[in-house]
Amino acid sequence: MEYRILGKTGLRVSRLGFGGIPIQRIDSERVKPLMRQLQQAGVNYIDTARGYTVSESYLGQALEGIRDQFILATKSMARTREAMASDIQTSLSNLRTGYIDLYQVHNPSLDQLDQVCAPGGALEALREAKAAGKIGHIGLTAHSADVFERALSLDWVETIMFPYNIVETQGEDLIRRAAAQNIGFIAMKPLAGGAIEDAALAMRFQVSNPDLTVTIPGMATEAEIAQNLAAVEDRSALSAEEQAKMAAIREQLGTRFCRRCDYCAPCTVGINISGTFLMQGYLTRYGLEDWARARYSAFPVKASACVECGVCESRCPYQLPIREMLKTAAAQFGE
Ligand code: SF4
Ligand code: SF4
Repeated sequence: MEYRILGKTGLRVSRLGFGGIPIQRIDSERVKPLMRQLQQAGVNYIDTARGYTVSESYLGQALEGIRDQFILATKSMARTREAMASDIQTSLSNLRTGYIDLYQVHNPSLDQLDQVCAPGGALEALREAKAAGKIGHIGLTAHSADVFERALSLDWVETIMFPYNIVETQGEDLIRRAAAQNIGFIAMKPLAGGAIEDAALAMRFQVSNPDLTVTIPGMATEAEIAQNLAAVEDRSALSAEEQAKMAAIREQLGTRFCRRCDYCAPCTVGINISGTFLMQGYLTRYGLEDWARARYSAFPVKASACVECGVCESRCPYQLPIREMLKTAAAQFGE
């Protein structure tokens, strides 16, 4: 396993980390074997969030007795001092530990970032927790390049997490600047929210960037961990064949695809926006037409029900033209 120093934190982290989103959908007792597998392979970085329902508590349970083998990172959507202090306590309790290595401000907008930094904002609670030895370091996660850029100007930001994958390279310059400023870069969304199918190629692409400190693919099975381990162990340069495959993926997906982050929800009329785009992908990209149509027909509210209020678009961090995209999906599904 290759290790890197996570920017100003000084923490030595494995280049492959564990993304804690998918364990929400498995049984809690299945998490412990995954942790053992990580430990044996030298993976020492675990990412979770207050917002990932049971993820923190499943990890806390699975890490009993081996917590000191890992660097634990979590995050909170709290923007005020009071709410952040409460979330830090909840995270400590869920993770069954007295110390969290990295606590991150989870995906603030520019306005929310101002609130975090202002008197009475969440940063006060993070600094107090750091001074009290409850957390080790403070970071920030973002989906918007504007927030990433602002974060680079904030002296308290020790790490930044941002999407980076074969089709989302909009952060490349900012990632380079983060490295130059000794801010650790944590890459999320290696598969672009499931849009990229070739997981091994996706991992190879990410770790080929020397400015990326750690990548955190979501994993919920031993097989997924083994596959990602194999991909990052191969440190050879990307071959011409791999470059051609990546070009084909970029061509196929373009920029108008949904990352299934669900920040756009809830829809005013109850459309499952990300689910619709997911089924549309199966319909048009993966040749699973019958399956996709059957699943889509079970959705209680169809894309054609969109009243074009635009509320969802104001929430989408990727500025997707959701209304227009839903019209296309409605036409393809015929309802
Ligand atoms: S624009 Fe359409 S999809 Fe978006 S919130 Fe309004 S009704 Fe829902
Ligand atoms: S439409 Fe935008 S906000 Fe909604 S799930 Fe997709 S990427 Fe996320």
